Amino acid sequence: MNIRGKTLHVKYAWIDGKIEENVSISVDESGKIVEINKKVFEDNVHLSNHLLVPGFVNTHSHAFHRHLRGKSEIGKSAADTFWKWRDNMYGLVAEVTKEKIYQYCLSTFKEMINAGITTVGEFHYVHHSEQKFDLDQSVIQAAIDSGIRIVLLQTLYERAGFDNPAVHPVQERFISSYEDFIENLEILRKRQEHPRVQIGVAAHSARAVPFENIKRLFEFANGEKIPFHIHLEEQPKEILDCQKWIGQKQGPSDILLSQMQLNEYFTAVHATFTPANNMLQFSKLGANVSICPCTEGYLGDGIPRINENLKISFGTDCNNRICFLEEMRWACFSQQILHFLVLYLQMLNNSRSVCGLSPEKLLQCATIDGARALSLSSTTGSLEIGKYFDAVSFSLDSPLFANSFADTLIDSLVLSAGNREISHVFVAGVDRKT
Ligand SMILES: [Zn+2]
Repeated sequence: MNIRGKTLHVKYAWIDGKIEENVSISVDESGKIVEINKKVFEDNVHLSNHLLVPGFVNTHSHAFHRHLRGKSEIGKSAADTFWKWRDNMYGLVAEVTKEKIYQYCLSTFKEMINAGITTVGEFHYVHHSEQKFDLDQSVIQAAIDSGIRIVLLQTLYERAGFDNPAVHPVQERFISSYEDFIENLEILRKRQEHPRVQIGVAAHSARAVPFENIKRLFEFANGEKIPFHIHLEEQPKEILDCQKWIGQKQGPSDILLSQMQLNEYFTAVHATFTPANNMLQFSKLGANVSICPCTEGYLGDGIPRINENLKISFGTDCNNRICFLEEMRWACFSQQILHFLVLYLQMLNNSRSVCGLSPEKLLQCATIDGARALSLSSTTGSLEIGKYFDAVSFSLDSPLFANSFADTLIDSLVLSAGNREISHVFVAGVDRKT
């Protein structure tokens, strides 16, 4: 289905933070919304018993990790830590070629589209195979061919740890100097002409990039008004190694907060072990935090200490399971469990209202707040005039939505539905669901 140059009529749509009934949306030939509830085009498309919401924005993915599926080793002795899982992932990287990474990414991006994800922030750090940086364009081409919108978060990776230990042979595929990285980045940015492709930057982690270059790269991103992401404090080992290295009781988040002017262009990924006070600082400064609840559960990482005012978005990270509705639910459930444990220790009652994570708030995190974390607020993330028509429709004929009405639809969607209820996934007005 193609809505370009047509007016779509839908029973319910999520517009400006609420459900509206009997909505019409007109989309121009470029795929942008030109009118809402005003007749513009002769051609009409009807989705009579459907709910339409903005396309989901996935702010943290490593598409190729999806090809480790089936090798979780959960419950077996070898599964003991995140670091063991990372060894398995390195086995996959050791054999990657331009063609393989293209195929890995293409299949993962198609799976994302079928899960309602219309934009992906691909945190891309496996750069080199036969030549330096020869894998980057393959990832972008896979996104173009799949139909998804991509922000390639081109990732700087300079070393194997704080004290610069010997590099693992696989890490050679990630590593470059800051200067080589920036030179290649400029070439990559100039080469992109496709309207669904943007380039942002990332520092892999404080382990992999010295603080002075994290700062330089963030300042570069600020100057260019492009997003800057970093894996932050996913594991306690990162904080302990940092403290040991600098000889003070400071973790990476303490140092970033003291040395950089964090703002809306900054996104911390995971922040699982980031102290609650630093999370409050992030919210005051308008920085974003991307959490990946299904991956953080899968890897046994833990639960971040978020707060009500934090700009949160979601990522599918290792892509073992690609279901954005499940990410939303787990974000809420895991926070309720975390707060239960805190309250339990004080012999207080449990709570079902944690950090304001209502179904409506979770949907906002999955859409407009995700667009913010990828610096795409004026492009996608809501059904608004001037933005691309990136949207997901759900068939209300599904028994799952029986007895759901305007005031209960979002609750039913976020807490009960799955990929099966998705009927269409539009990116810039074109249905890409297969
Ligand atoms: Zn990651």
